[in-house]
Amino acid sequence: MSDRLPGFSTLAVHAGAQPDPTTGARATPIYQTTSFVFNDADHAASLFGLQAFGNIYTRIGNPTNAVLEERVAALEGGTAALAVASGHAAQVVVLQQLLQPGDEFIAARKLYGGSINQFTHAFKSFGWNVVWADSDDIASFERAVTPRTKAIFIESIANPGGSITDIEAISTVARKAGVPLIVDNTLASPYLIRPIDHGADIVVHSLTKFLGGHGNSLGGIIVDAGTFDWSTGGKYPMLSEPRPEYHGIRLQETFGNFAFAIACRVLGLRDLGPALSPFNAFMILTGIETLPLRMQKHCDNAEAVAEFLAGHPAVASVSYAGLANDKYNQLARKYAPKGAGAVFTFSLKGGYDAGVSLVSKLQLFSHLANVGDTRSLVIHPASTTHSQLDDAAKVKSGAGPDVVRLSIGIEDKEDLIADLEQALGA
Ligand SMILES: *Cc1c(COP(=O)(O)O)cnc(C)c1O
Repeated sequence: MSDRLPGFSTLAVHAGAQPDPTTGARATPIYQTTSFVFNDADHAASLFGLQAFGNIYTRIGNPTNAVLEERVAALEGGTAALAVASGHAAQVVVLQQLLQPGDEFIAARKLYGGSINQFTHAFKSFGWNVVWADSDDIASFERAVTPRTKAIFIESIANPGGSITDIEAISTVARKAGVPLIVDNTLASPYLIRPIDHGADIVVHSLTKFLGGHGNSLGGIIVDAGTFDWSTGGKYPMLSEPRPEYHGIRLQETFGNFAFAIACRVLGLRDLGPALSPFNAFMILTGIETLPLRMQKHCDNAEAVAEFLAGHPAVASVSYAGLANDKYNQLARKYAPKGAGAVFTFSLKGGYDAGVSLVSKLQLFSHLANVGDTRSLVIHPASTTHSQLDDAAKVKSGAGPDVVRLSIGIEDKEDLIADLEQALGA
């Protein structure tokens, strides 16, 4: 073996995996089992007391899921990871380690619609208060900090408009406030952006999207950068204080730079329960092997489609950071030089009716509420995901009546452009 560090594509295929020690199976087996036999009573006791690492029960950990966790941690440059049932489950588990009732976290307003709902409504019943800030105005994050602020949450490439967030600038605010920066890296994937390289302390993903990549399995993951000191000022008691359920151990003291990932597993996943099925972990692992190939094709196709739309007479504007004249092009060149992702919006001169008509005429694009599939997808947010908002609120969230969102797949770009051309023209 040379001492060369493996590159990204090599890690995407190999990280975390080795031939199965019992059978020699080369692909990672699906360990479809709920529980694991202990060697003896002492072994069982040490596993339960966190004195030894090992498998107990699939809600807490599973060998197939462990390969996925190691692989994504390697791709993101983190110390450890925890796979869970969905992207939303990842967000709940992360924040449960950080917030007590009455605490606050700051979130960028440009966010996946489901996250806006989760933060605004569901988290209120836990006593967790979201304070919104504007990622185009870094000072708005600084102004939002209070003594109860426990975290800052942003997306690297933000839904639905595909805008690029200045991660480094916001990480400086987080550092000054003494709180961790959480980055949802779903739309970028680590192939385009590695938030930890830019100051993120925690990365979350919906594996459902580009990492799994084939629109067939839900999943989520939490990556611990190992960068944050949880012991300061007693602000994060889940990590710094003795845990009664584990004989009084302190997680930060015992587990150091992967204490956060451990907390998410042994306090979050164990007690809240959103475990990832090993079958889904297998599907997502298989998807990740081709992530670099797919992601590049997604981006190249998206750029070609965005350029076509920008030149079409029925189109009022295109919001794609990969276009040279886009507001976010400078940030895209800095943070995502290989491509600005594959999810973006454009607006139609014909307004709401033109949006509805376009969606009904497209044939190759599937009309549905998802992104990050091999297939190209389209949605008209104003008549679907955002239909409950009034017009002003729609515009504010980037989903005005004339706006259409695309998630560009890996088909031939000529076919995608031809489909859009017939649907726009007819
Ligand atoms: C889909 C998505 C989520 C939620 O993930 P699920 O797997 O659907 O729970 C969170 N953030 C972003 C950016 C997403 O696209």
